[in-house]
Amino acid sequence: MYLMQKISLSAELHEIYGIGPRFVMKLKHLGVVTAKDLIWHFPTRYEDRSETSAIADLKPGDSKTIRGAISEIDSKRSWKRRMTIVEATITDETGSIRAVWFNQPYIKNILQEGVVASFYGKVLEDKKSKNGKSGLHLSNPTYEVLNGADLDDKLKEIETKHTGRLVPIYPETKGLTSKGIRMLSQKILDNLEPVKEFLPQEILKSRNFPEINVALRNIHFPGNLDDAELAKERFAFEELFLIQLNNLYQKFSLSKEKSPVMGNAEGIIANTSKNLPFKLTKSQEVALEEILKDLDKPEPMNRLLQGDVGSGKTIVAGLAALVAAHNGYQSAIMAPTEILARQHYRTLVYLFPEFTQGIGLLVSKEARVSYGENLETDIKKPAFLKEVSDGKIKILVGTHALIEKGVVFKNLGLVVVDEQHRFGVKQRAALSGHAGLVPHFLSMSATPIPRTIMMTMFGDLNLSIISELPKGRKAIITKIVDPENRDKAYAFIRGQVRRGRQVFVVCPRIAASENGGEPRSFGVRTFMDKNESLLLEVKNVEEEYEKLKKTIFPDLKVAMLHGKMKSGEKAVVMSDFASGKIDVLVSTSVIEVGVDVPNASIMMIEGSERFGLAQLYQFRGRVGRGEHQSFCFLFTESPSKNTRDRLNSLITAKNGFELAEKDLLIRGPGEFMGKEQTGLPDIAMRALQKPELVKSSRDAAELVARNGWEMKNYPNLYEKFGEFRKEIHLE
Ligand code: ADP
Ligand code: MG
Repeated sequence: MYLMQKISLSAELHEIYGIGPRFVMKLKHLGVVTAKDLIWHFPTRYEDRSETSAIADLKPGDSKTIRGAISEIDSKRSWKRRMTIVEATITDETGSIRAVWFNQPYIKNILQEGVVASFYGKVLEDKKSKNGKSGLHLSNPTYEVLNGADLDDKLKEIETKHTGRLVPIYPETKGLTSKGIRMLSQKILDNLEPVKEFLPQEILKSRNFPEINVALRNIHFPGNLDDAELAKERFAFEELFLIQLNNLYQKFSLSKEKSPVMGNAEGIIANTSKNLPFKLTKSQEVALEEILKDLDKPEPMNRLLQGDVGSGKTIVAGLAALVAAHNGYQSAIMAPTEILARQHYRTLVYLFPEFTQGIGLLVSKEARVSYGENLETDIKKPAFLKEVSDGKIKILVGTHALIEKGVVFKNLGLVVVDEQHRFGVKQRAALSGHAGLVPHFLSMSATPIPRTIMMTMFGDLNLSIISELPKGRKAIITKIVDPENRDKAYAFIRGQVRRGRQVFVVCPRIAASENGGEPRSFGVRTFMDKNESLLLEVKNVEEEYEKLKKTIFPDLKVAMLHGKMKSGEKAVVMSDFASGKIDVLVSTSVIEVGVDVPNASIMMIEGSERFGLAQLYQFRGRVGRGEHQSFCFLFTESPSKNTRDRLNSLITAKNGFELAEKDLLIRGPGEFMGKEQTGLPDIAMRALQKPELVKSSRDAAELVARNGWEMKNYPNLYEKFGEFRKEIHLE
């Protein structure tokens, strides 16, 4: 062999001897540029090609590795089939067999007569058996030239990479096969500078994980599947571990910041509660208490308030804002849409009629403020902003407009963010406090998040859960509706509307012509049966709207709402629906987030098989908010049992968390959360389906954190963690 310089992880592939520019280009398409990228391009699975056979023992249907010499090879063009066919005869000490390759003419140059190679492929019976031949052939076998080997060497003892062993199968790209990637990964692994181990020894030992260089070897070229599995687990673990470490570090750094101490909550809470039109549920009270306890400390609160749709999170946040105001501090309550911002604003004004220190609403084109229920005024934006900066408006509700330039708070003490899974570091910085004080932070979410994802992606947050709905809510009746029952369902809906109720209709798409299929979060491919997604018609908002309006409910007021409409138009439709001017609202998933229309009692979901469980659950939560019995109809034309079972779990599941866990298992974390949202590599994403591993990574991070953030005993980890933090801050 030629001498080769050791390859460093940061080496770019084009600098590495023997890697051609064509390969380099193709790898680039996979996002693979450096040696590290390639080595961290892990196999998705392994094919077991370890079973070997003598040629004479091969039987039709076998997939085995054989070794032999090429005794004859030729290529011909088949005009009929428009391709080149290479045909060879392979001979070992027991017999011969033919091998056939289609459209790979170059094979003739590689496998010349006399070359010894191993082959792996499927043994098929010839159509017409030729005289004197075995009547069998190998179809498109993988081949591997065994340099310097001759027929006396035992196959088992020859080092192979594509045959005769467990063979890694990689995510592929056009024109770049697993075989190609395998050649490269082996070449690099054979010549790689030792990689620095950054996981502490005791963590490796206690978990039985292989050291990093061994793990790299085993994940690509394992001796057995257990080794491969353990190596995979190690790499998944290290990703989770770094995230967990970061979570703890975030907590630690936050604990050094100072926030305003907001005490004396009892009086104001008692007084306000007395005047509420309802009594807080037990779990609202518990959550509120946890929040108030945090507010009363000089270190910033960083808490997630989780509760099903309709569980009453807004009032809890509102009460916290009252306490802040009582202590002289401003609060900002941020909603993801204008519709929701308006809704929160109205709710707070309505629930706190005696609060006179200013509740403001700020959306892109409008500002209003209320100093008590009957003291609401329209106000020009500049004047409004002045009242904010003077500290006159104590509770400010709004959209992202809140963090735009020009919004200056006098003394912001509390930030509440509704339904935004990840509130960016930058956005958070835009809502800074004053006099070196950091505002307390409360995030609210109705999305049930599986425990493992919670612990990982939100591991820096403390958690409060509202686990019960206010008394008197009726359970929503959920039904799967087959095509033959569609008319019945329509008749039922008409009956409900006649009684004054309103209806949501959700469709998977906006328009029929939309190509590219479903938004990615639907994850259709991963949980629908193979051809199901092609066969079933995808209902779209525009056509359904036309159909319902013209044919089905010509006598009712039907409107549509989707993400491509202007925000002004959307607001009009939404407020018309909220005020009862619209009977049937056809929309896409834009209504997914917290709109409150208590009079809407029917949720009808078209093409329900196209949505994830957690998403369906969110849709259903749009109804059942008032005193009326509510219904959720899951329309589906899918005959698949899997789909039925999946939809059925919406009827049987006890709560959203149970569904979320199920959804995670069925769809996988990538589809569940949207890959962009997590920024996790695939291997770590899949690890989120393993609670033990998540827990184990958390424990390991705690061990390290306990020993101090200087990480004196773990210099490699210190360095690695620094790089990791730099990367996430760049995102
Ligand atoms: P979500 O948690 O989905 O944000 P909301 O805060 O919008 O829920 O509350 C849903 C509805 O329930 C609102 O109309 C709210 O006024 C009402 N509500 C909140 N808490 C209670 C309670 N303890 N009892 C009765 N109704 C309540
Ligand atoms: Mg809400």
